[in-house]
Amino acid sequence: MRYLDKAALGHHEDWYGTNAAVSCSSCGKVFIVSATLHRKGRKCPACGLCTAIVTKQQVSITEPGD
Ligand SMILES: [Zn+2]
Repeated sequence: MRYLDKAALGHHEDWYGTNAAVSCSSCGKVFIVSATLHRKGRKCPACGLCTAIVTKQQVSITEPGD
């Protein structure tokens, strides 16, 4: 499990309100995840191995093996 750090977003990450862009830790694909559209999180659209979820407090990325 990995979390976005709002104060130190990477070049392939963004977080605005209830939406975030994250990079898949398995394949590197950057994808959007939204708290309102993806209540149970969203899998990487390229490989499906990682799941990102936005909650009120944080953006987390679950990786295979977590
Ligand atoms: Zn992926």
